[in-house]
Amino acid sequence: MSESTLHVGLVLPDVMGTYGDGGNALILRQRARMRGINAAITEITLDDPVPESLDIYVLGGAEDYAQRLATRHLTRYPGLQRAAAAGRPVLAICAAIQVLGHWYETSSGERVEGISLLDLTTAPQARRSIGELITQPRIAGLTQPLSGFENHRGGTTLGPDARPLGTVRHGDGNVAGGGLEGAVQGSVIGTYMHGPALARNPELADYLLKQALGTDVLAPLNLPEVDQLRRERLAAGR
Ligand code: GLN
Repeated sequence: MSESTLHVGLVLPDVMGTYGDGGNALILRQRARMRGINAAITEITLDDPVPESLDIYVLGGAEDYAQRLATRHLTRYPGLQRAAAAGRPVLAICAAIQVLGHWYETSSGERVEGISLLDLTTAPQARRSIGELITQPRIAGLTQPLSGFENHRGGTTLGPDARPLGTVRHGDGNVAGGGLEGAVQGSVIGTYMHGPALARNPELADYLLKQALGTDVLAPLNLPEVDQLRRERLAAGR
């Protein structure tokens, strides 16, 4: 794509985007523009093949049927898999972390093959994980606690090639009692944090932007309203 514009792919917002997860694309675009970087969002719907040439991709959560449609589409048009293989950053929220794994089982016990971008599998838990989620990140470049709202029946188990994104301080994360949240593998990050996650976690937004732009440094942004939102959401999880 054009060198002067950052292209953010919002993948399947028509079927995956519960709790305003599409806001993650808006935040990436806005935080780029505030640094004087041109940025544009490309919405990829069920009517479109998935392009492999965008700079960064975000996917949101979904209920079981919509999640199934998304899985089929991403399998049929493997642009996301090619983009990830080329090192483009991908952020996958909730149902999307499940779709990007090897397989997931729906709450009715049906097993669906995923697209295997993340070494993980998901099976229904005895009870739904719902509520505020707070974690301490475990990857280099992130130091601030991460916060989100989780609501999932599926419980996710990581394989050896996926590392957790964070250690759970409050809430359930991947699976109740497991103490781990999210998955990181190559340029792909999966998490159960709705919120939208990047509104609550600007450090994570800038981490992804740096990867997408191929830079180690971004000009700091002074946004008191974002700091206030963070304080409120972190306090809500205590
Ligand atoms: N349907 C999935 C589950 O319940 C994901 C839900 C979501 O994305 N909020 O596990």
